[in-house]
Amino acid sequence: MHIVHVAVEMAPIAKVGGLGDVVTGLSRAVQDMNHNVDIILPKYDCITLSNVRDLQFHKSYSWAGTEIKVWSGKVEGLNVYYLEPQNGLFWVGCIYGHRNDRDRFGFFSHAALEFLVQSGLDPDIIHCHDWCTAPVSWLFKEHYMHHGLSKANVVFTIHNLEFGADLIGKAMAFSDKVTTVSPTYSQEVSGNPIIAPHGSKFHGILNGINADIWDPYNDEFIPVSYTSENVVEGKRAAKEALQQRLGLKRADLPLVGIITRLTHQKGIDLIKHAIWRTLECNGQVVLLGTAPDPRIQNDFVNLANQLHSSHNDLARLCLTYDEPLSHLIYAGSDFILVPSIFEPCGLTQLTAMRYGSIPVVRKTGGLRDTVFDVDHDKERAEALGVETNGFNFNGADADGVDYGLNRAISAWYDKREWFNSLSKRIMEQDWSWNRPALDYLELYRAARK
Ligand code: ADP
Repeated sequence: MHIVHVAVEMAPIAKVGGLGDVVTGLSRAVQDMNHNVDIILPKYDCITLSNVRDLQFHKSYSWAGTEIKVWSGKVEGLNVYYLEPQNGLFWVGCIYGHRNDRDRFGFFSHAALEFLVQSGLDPDIIHCHDWCTAPVSWLFKEHYMHHGLSKANVVFTIHNLEFGADLIGKAMAFSDKVTTVSPTYSQEVSGNPIIAPHGSKFHGILNGINADIWDPYNDEFIPVSYTSENVVEGKRAAKEALQQRLGLKRADLPLVGIITRLTHQKGIDLIKHAIWRTLECNGQVVLLGTAPDPRIQNDFVNLANQLHSSHNDLARLCLTYDEPLSHLIYAGSDFILVPSIFEPCGLTQLTAMRYGSIPVVRKTGGLRDTVFDVDHDKERAEALGVETNGFNFNGADADGVDYGLNRAISAWYDKREWFNSLSKRIMEQDWSWNRPALDYLELYRAARK
């Protein structure tokens, strides 16, 4: 099968969040199963070109009164076409955040279909993602399927229903299949008036993580390579390196890591509460995150200052985006906390497990589908053929967080051997794209019927 993704993010060259990881991880897995995959991406001026191999000029075409230069170049072994409209729509220093984002990405969606026609690529599946490339679905059905793209079917993935719901609703009507990124999230949103009318073509397929990018055995950002066999030594070295880098002094205390966008979705108040609760429970905290909203960012700057005075040896808030540091936190933490209010899938809990860090999560969306509480979820885990692997809690409040954190931190103090065996066990679970890619291939086939 030939699959073309039309997307506005792609890890690691143009990533804001999970969407970028999914485009790369899913494509890699499907390509490894001997299918033909191309990706079409805007050529932002902020692309990390150092991660693009063999970048070269491919062709140019005129569309909507603008010359569009097309470049090609490999990312993670994947063939990517970069569209660079000469009207400067993508020369604004960032991916999102412009008043005219809808126009920018609407233009890109249209230009991508035009490129497919002009270059003679005639894929079996066009896979578009979230509101940004939702227009691909109706532009295709209203025009391009009759003019140049004869055999394609459209698959649309909703990574987050919070943004651009009107465009998402319209794309659902015009797509052959629609997915979202976990079974539980698909159930949680199934009653939404945007989703409900299209329930029969709506499926929840869990995301995976890119097991090459996230691999403690082969990770340039951590000091000692490790697998489940030497997880205790590997994590000890990573914890020491992390503590040293951030100036934390107490390697003998458990460390809770938090890696997140600081937005309402991620449970801002729960995160703040968890920081104080961890300190009360004799733990340490490292947070890596940025807030798109300057008021929230400012709030966390104030909290960082407060912690600097009261708990300088035990807590560090790194309010930046820092991919290398995120690797060291995944490896060096004992726990990764994800107290989201809602979570379509969530990748941080999966990455945490890959690095042997125990996830402590709120039981919602994809977090519920992937983290099975050691005390409460044995049956649910067994039914799915997995072993329990972390701690979870229901309440989106202080009591909920306390329930999760207290049990987790007590286990670290009181049952260290058991804790280490849990760490080893979760590293051996497979949360890669292997399984989800098969589900997508099945869906692609069904879309073509
Ligand atoms: P979302 O897409 O809603 O932000 P996900 O859990 O699906 O949440 O994906 C978040 C991704 O972004 C993860 O790969 C995480 O490691 C990464 N990430 C989030 N914040 C930062 C940060 N400040 N620095 C580095 N990586 C980050």
